[in-house]
Amino acid sequence: MQRLTGIGVSPGVVSGRAVILIQRAQVLRYQVSPARVAHELARLEESRSRSRSQLTEIRARLADRRPEMASLFDAQLLMLDDPMLAPRAAEIIRQQRVNAEWAVQQAFDECSAVFDEVADPYLRERKGDVADLAGRLRMNLRRDVSTLRDLLSGVDESSVIVADELTPSLAAQVDWTKVRGFATDAGSRTYHTAILARSLDVPAVVGLHNASAQIEPGQLIVIDGSASQVILDPTPEELARVARHADDRRPAAGEGEPRGPAVTADGVAIRLDANIEFPDDLAAARYAGAEGIGLYRSEFLLASELDAVGDEDRQYAIYRDILEAMAPGWVTVRTFDIDEDQLAARRARHALVPGWETDETRASRQGLRGLRLSLMRPELFRIQLRALLRAASHGHLRIMFPFVSSVAQLRAARVMVGEAAADLARRGAAPPRVAIGVTIEIPAAAYTADLLAREVDFFAIGTNDLIQYCLAVDRADERVSQLYEPLHPAILRMIVTVRRAAARHRIPVSVCGEMASDPALLALLVGLGLTEFSMTPGAIPVARQMLAELRRDELGALARRIRRLATVEDIEHELMHAIGRLTLIKGGAR
Ligand code: PEP
Ligand code: MG
Repeated sequence: MQRLTGIGVSPGVVSGRAVILIQRAQVLRYQVSPARVAHELARLEESRSRSRSQLTEIRARLADRRPEMASLFDAQLLMLDDPMLAPRAAEIIRQQRVNAEWAVQQAFDECSAVFDEVADPYLRERKGDVADLAGRLRMNLRRDVSTLRDLLSGVDESSVIVADELTPSLAAQVDWTKVRGFATDAGSRTYHTAILARSLDVPAVVGLHNASAQIEPGQLIVIDGSASQVILDPTPEELARVARHADDRRPAAGEGEPRGPAVTADGVAIRLDANIEFPDDLAAARYAGAEGIGLYRSEFLLASELDAVGDEDRQYAIYRDILEAMAPGWVTVRTFDIDEDQLAARRARHALVPGWETDETRASRQGLRGLRLSLMRPELFRIQLRALLRAASHGHLRIMFPFVSSVAQLRAARVMVGEAAADLARRGAAPPRVAIGVTIEIPAAAYTADLLAREVDFFAIGTNDLIQYCLAVDRADERVSQLYEPLHPAILRMIVTVRRAAARHRIPVSVCGEMASDPALLALLVGLGLTEFSMTPGAIPVARQMLAELRRDELGALARRIRRLATVEDIEHELMHAIGRLTLIKGGAR
């Protein structure tokens, strides 16, 4: 038994098996059950074969024009079979029973150490190739587990998280009904994870320096938030003490946070809605106290319910269930926002759905997606609109169009809504009037917000895309992630422009991008005059607690100071100074 002492920031004591989360390296490390070892090996093998086809394809493309570069990929193809990398990772999975991502990372670390010892500078340089290849293997592992939540779903119910650092956006993806508590290397009493732990009501110890390196995945530990300690390999007596003290701190099922607006310290009501991807997320949204759904990313239907794409009844049933579950709160359904890349990723399955095949050579994130794609596929768009309008009588529906870059597109979509309503009326079931809004996520839409505002019932600012298109930074490209700056003066100005246009035309405006999930950025947005937000459910309790501690008038003054600053560094400094140490989103959303 060993004791580590840190700073207890949320009281209570729990025991559990450690899940290690090394966020800086973006690699999650956890113990898998013996039954899951084969699955992890299969994932590794799948990633290796995807990597092999990608490398072969790249090589073939370069062969004619750049033969010298093509040979670099020959080297990577050879390394793919080198016993030190993928086969070694497989051995690590078998021996240590860890997830494939972590095994690849470890095999890479071992390889790099060998390269570091080599005297020949040419060979030493090859370390970059190994890094590139290990990165590709990890990327291909990520394809089937796109979010951390998916990764963490493999974690069993008696887990505790040990992380180097737990940022709000990361914490928001953890299923806190499974994870019992957490411990972090970083942090202090005023650190935002402290607020987070208190609002989640889980025991937590922070400021442990290197606990994430000392504790092994799967190791049994006790987190004692009241005594500021983490106990490794507790004795049976210690575990008995935990059992005596571990009153179940969680509210019973069905209970949760109060529903209703958050209120700032000076009494301003702030609306907090939830972003959801799957109908199953509703429980988390309600538990977190969301007033309504500010963004339902309906395209996730395509990932799980492929048949529903062309099936009006199936879609109607799904929308109706969500509306009923959230009533009287509103549900903002964003019509399919899918791009050709995403279609390409699901090509095999989508080939089954006529009209959704994609031209892979033309796939691009700035190309055919969102409302543009829906307008190009009117048959499928009509099905979605009819299903939505039929469901409208079962709750409070709002329909939102994504990726709008012109008033003309909006008008075309509104015509189609009118036609869908007329179809239903002919069937004898005229739908109620439904609010229609747009996501403001393309700079052109932000600059013409006054023109769009005349023709819609609401706006939602999609900062994830707005940032990438305004700053010309692909949100999925790690190489430019340091340029993805929510605090760039251009972004703040655009948000103010949109807020003003909405106010002038008396329509509500919310922020539904990841910016709203980050407490520091949320505070600034409130200072900029926004009062409606939609965020990932896990971020809502923190936002509510944080807003209760801040005054809107002071945030307004802070925002005015910030709007005079010219650089992101100065803005960040001013914000941090005012709000305390908080982690700002960098490097893309989702
Ligand atoms: C956005 O762009 O900010 C947004 C909310 O939508 P998504 O992240 O789904 O593109
Ligand atoms: Mg978007």
